Amino acid sequence: MRIYSLFEQKRPVFSLEVFPPKQTVNFERVKQTLRELAALRPDYVSVTYGAAGTAAGLTCELAAFLKQELQVEPLAHLTCINSSRRQLDGVLGRMQEAGVENILALRGDRSPEVEPQKDFHHANELMQYIGERYDFSLAGACYPEGHPDSPSAEEDVKTLLYKQQAGAKHLVTQLFFDTDAYFRFVDRALAAGVTLPVQPGVMPIVKLGQIQRTVALSAASLPAAFSKMIARYEQDPDGLYKAGIQYAVSQCLALLAGGAPGVHIYTMNNANVARQVYEGIKGALGRGEDGCV
Ligand code: FAD
Repeated sequence: MRIYSLFEQKRPVFSLEVFPPKQTVNFERVKQTLRELAALRPDYVSVTYGAAGTAAGLTCELAAFLKQELQVEPLAHLTCINSSRRQLDGVLGRMQEAGVENILALRGDRSPEVEPQKDFHHANELMQYIGERYDFSLAGACYPEGHPDSPSAEEDVKTLLYKQQAGAKHLVTQLFFDTDAYFRFVDRALAAGVTLPVQPGVMPIVKLGQIQRTVALSAASLPAAFSKMIARYEQDPDGLYKAGIQYAVSQCLALLAGGAPGVHIYTMNNANVARQVYEGIKGALGRGEDGCV
C-alpha cells in the first residue's frame, strides 16, 4: 500500500515510529513491542535508520516483520549523507526484497567523527535518485521550528519545495511541543507552494531523562505550559508520566481539531505509552471501540 493514498481518503492518518534495537539479541523484545503496537491498528509504522546506516539490516528486517507477519504497512527510513550510491543500492535492494513500498528519504545528521560521502548532499537528491531507479513511494522530513542548519524558518521551508519536486508525496514533522508552531509552519509552507500533506510528529514526554536526551537534540521550543508541567513533576515520576501522556493527548486533539491530516506518534518503543495516547485520541481519529474506522 502506498501511504500517500491514505491522505487522499481525507480521514486522520494515525501512525507510529519505532527504532530497531542496537543489538540483534534485543530483536525479539522489539518484535513483541510491534505486536502490541499493531493491536492499535496504526495506518502505518515507520522504522528509523541508524546513523551512517550501521543497522540498515535491522531496519529492513523490522519492516519485513511488520509487513509480512503483522500486516502493518511499514515506512522505512533511509539516510544518505554517509553512504555511497553503491551502498544505498544494496540497502534499497534489501528493502525491495523485504516488501517495503514506502521510504522516508532523509539526509541524516552530520557527525564530526564521520567524513560524509560525496554522492548525496541533501534529502531531495536521494529522492531523485530513488525515483529514477526504483518503484518506492517517498516521504520527507520537515521542521515546524526550522532545521538547525537553516538560517531561518522562512529559508528552511523553501527547501521543502525541492523535496516536493523530487517526488515526495507527504511530509512528517520533527517533534514539537508548541502546537501553534505547527499551524504557522503549515501556513508558511503553503505560501511557499508546498502542497503535500504535513503529518505532525508528537512525542509523549513521560520521563525527565527524555528532556535532556531527545528534546535537547531536537531544539524544540518549550511552551510555558510544558515547562510548568516539567517543573511541577520534577520529583514525581508517576505524576510526570500521567501529565506527559495528557500533554501529548491534548496536543494531538488540538492538531486534529485544527485540521492536521493525522498524527505520527514517536513511541520510543514504549507500547504502553502509545496505547494510552491512542485511547485519548481514538474518538478524534474517528475510530470505534474495536479500533476500526
Ligand atoms: P535535508 O532535507 O537535506 O535538509 C537539511 C538542511 O539543508 C536543512 O537546513 C534544509 O533547509 C537544507 N536543504 C535541504 N535541501 C537543500 C538543498 N537542495 N539545497 C540547499 N539546502 C537544502 N535521522 C537518522 O539518522 N535516522 C532516521 O531514521 C531519522 N528519521 C527522521 C524522521 C523525521 C520525521 C525527522 C524530522 C528527522 C529524522 N532524522 C533521522 C533526522 C534527520 O536525518 C536530520 O534532521 C538531518 O539533519 C536532516 O535530514 P533532512 O532529510 O531533513 O535533510
